[in-house]
Amino acid sequence: MRPIVDYHMHTPLCGHAAGEPELYARRAQELGLLEIGFSDHAPLLSHDDPSITMNMSQLPEYHKMIEDVRNEFQGELIVKIALEADYLSGYEEKTRAMLSGYPYDYVIGSVHYIQDWGFDNPAEQAKWAKSDPNVIYRKYYELLRKSAETRLFNIMGHVDLVKKFGHRPSEDMTDEIRKTAYVFEQAGVAVEINTSGLRKPVKEMYPALEALKIYCQAGVPLTFGSDAHMPEDVGRDFFEAADLAKAAGYKEYVLFKQRKIEKTVKL
Ligand code: ZN
Ligand code: FE
Ligand code: FE
Repeated sequence: MRPIVDYHMHTPLCGHAAGEPELYARRAQELGLLEIGFSDHAPLLSHDDPSITMNMSQLPEYHKMIEDVRNEFQGELIVKIALEADYLSGYEEKTRAMLSGYPYDYVIGSVHYIQDWGFDNPAEQAKWAKSDPNVIYRKYYELLRKSAETRLFNIMGHVDLVKKFGHRPSEDMTDEIRKTAYVFEQAGVAVEINTSGLRKPVKEMYPALEALKIYCQAGVPLTFGSDAHMPEDVGRDFFEAADLAKAAGYKEYVLFKQRKIEKTVKL
């Protein structure tokens, strides 16, 4: 069975996605999904970069755009309104203020930066050649834990994004992942299966099976997201995503409404 929901989708406002939100909703309907959630990149609070996120002054336009789609599809497809926000050390209170400015259904917390290095940005890939993957992976997991501990987020996004370009640690990261799973459970955040990794050099979903087993054992709830940056990618590889969830031990996944778990759905 395919999950009935896709909670990770972008809009052209982020500067690197294509297609109006209505087209994402139509694609979801074609696939038979019952619910979607738009979670475009939240404004970066450290600096403006129109190729990565909308800016603060565009947030009202984003809300209106998604509300319009929600109204248009009323009775046919449930449309949730969310954001994918970065955890940036030192910007916690600004982030909190931004996220409290609108009744989002959920917020995905994502780590895309280690200090000021956008480690998953193809334009900043050269720095990997000068880095020890063991060190980078450990820093990444530490930032994931710090993100969850802020209690700013409901879902942690693509929780092994650090593997995106195929760089692998030589050391075993199981303990890092165990610690991270424990913190997630304590903080009450969910993890997502994000299928976009299959479309990246690593060619694996985020997270890998062995990691997902650890999150499942720790009691961390699950959601599904395609991380679509174009309508054709909505719900992509969701049958495989459901298989991965089951192989990891998950029996159900969760839906969010107004920043709380609304219900669970059997896998
Ligand atoms: Zn993006
Ligand atoms: Fe992301
Ligand atoms: Fe994303």
